[in-house]
Amino acid sequence: MASARFRCLAGCAGEWPLTQAIYRCPTCNGLLDVVHDVTALRGTRPDAWKAVFDARYKRTVWPFGSGVWGKKEWVAPEVPDDAIVSLDEGGTNLFWAERFGRELGMGELWVKLCGNSHTGSFKDLGMTVLVSVVRWAMRDHGLKVRAIACASTGDTSASLAAYGASCGIPVIVLLPRGKVSTAQLVQPIANGAMVLALDTDFDGCMAVVQQLAAEGIVYLANSMNALRLEGQKTVAIEIVQQFDWQVPDWVILPSGNLGNASALHKGFQLLKDLGVTDRLPRLVVAQAERANPLVRAVRQGATTVTPMKAESTLATAIQIGAPVSAPRAMRALQAMNGLAVDATEDELADAAARADLTGMYCDPHTGVALAALIKLRAAGTIGEGERVVVVSTASGLKFTEFKIGYHERKLAGVQSRRANDPVILPPDFGKVVDAIQARFPG
Ligand SMILES: *Cc1c(COP(=O)(O)O)cnc(C)c1O
Ligand SMILES: [Zn+2]
Repeated sequence: MASARFRCLAGCAGEWPLTQAIYRCPTCNGLLDVVHDVTALRGTRPDAWKAVFDARYKRTVWPFGSGVWGKKEWVAPEVPDDAIVSLDEGGTNLFWAERFGRELGMGELWVKLCGNSHTGSFKDLGMTVLVSVVRWAMRDHGLKVRAIACASTGDTSASLAAYGASCGIPVIVLLPRGKVSTAQLVQPIANGAMVLALDTDFDGCMAVVQQLAAEGIVYLANSMNALRLEGQKTVAIEIVQQFDWQVPDWVILPSGNLGNASALHKGFQLLKDLGVTDRLPRLVVAQAERANPLVRAVRQGATTVTPMKAESTLATAIQIGAPVSAPRAMRALQAMNGLAVDATEDELADAAARADLTGMYCDPHTGVALAALIKLRAAGTIGEGERVVVVSTASGLKFTEFKIGYHERKLAGVQSRRANDPVILPPDFGKVVDAIQARFPG
């Protein structure tokens, strides 16, 4: 029987059931990991796993049509199906960005659109696992939870609020007062979360929510909680599945707290450990230059990440100076022969605008990943025939202020070289023809 437990990432003794509210190792206070019984999973042959996963993919048999729960045995095998809280997350499009790839002199550029999900970001993949486990623990294991809580200003709170509301578990979101735009606030507000606006910054909110969790007042949903990574790792499995079980050469990912980078590593590693694949892709962790602690660490040849003060960046979801999952990400880089690359505000905005002109609609974080791709391609690090997957982490539709700001040339530090101005004209046929003629001199 497949099973999974919490264990200390650093290797301290002890293991704990997933239904226990535990976020750190009691011995060393370090991060926890969800460890699977790989021997039990090896009891099923690689071809049999592929057949099972392919049969379930995007169908409606509960809960397996979800991109996460279709891989249930590899994610959280013991959660009863009737405790699962799913909004049909995953199963997102992996499209061949042919025109943009051609511009960069490459034939195999693919974009994995994780933002095409229930709340518009990849955070749904992890949140479905966390909220399902909490619901199961409350129902069957006597876990007392007044509310699930997180400190966040964007995608995490939107996702948590939706999953909590869909099963009736209360949600509390802690936000820094006055530093959150209406667009960032409206999703948790609409889903009925308790929104606490505190007179502090993000780190101040994080400190409060951690204390609330430590005293058992709330259950903690920030990505320190290893449950989220189990759901997020299915992005790796799904990419390989979509390539008919072939491993791409490179995966490029915009990263802040570094949870997702570690999750992707877990997914690719499990595929290899179970014999479904025979290698890992190379990983590129892409960061905003204004919040680039991992890039600095790699540049200095350090094995640990020194926290920095993150400056404000358009890529708000990765404006993090002290990434919680840094130790996990260091392992991922090592195992995947990885690179860390950063992008300035102008580079990320220009990359997003350039990709938009080939039919995409990029959020600023995807812009960071595309900027990293452009640099690595220009340097020849990524070869023209190599298969590259850029992970797009959120929908561009959630970042309207970024898009408008770019085309109205109002973004600080950004040149808006590709701004596309609407042409304002009187309702006069001749003037319209003149304008078309000027733009497209047939
Ligand atoms: C959360 C988030 C990230 C960063 O993921 P980490 O796991 O914190 O590295 C990147 N892009 C978007 C849109 C996000 O919401
Ligand atoms: Zn430990």
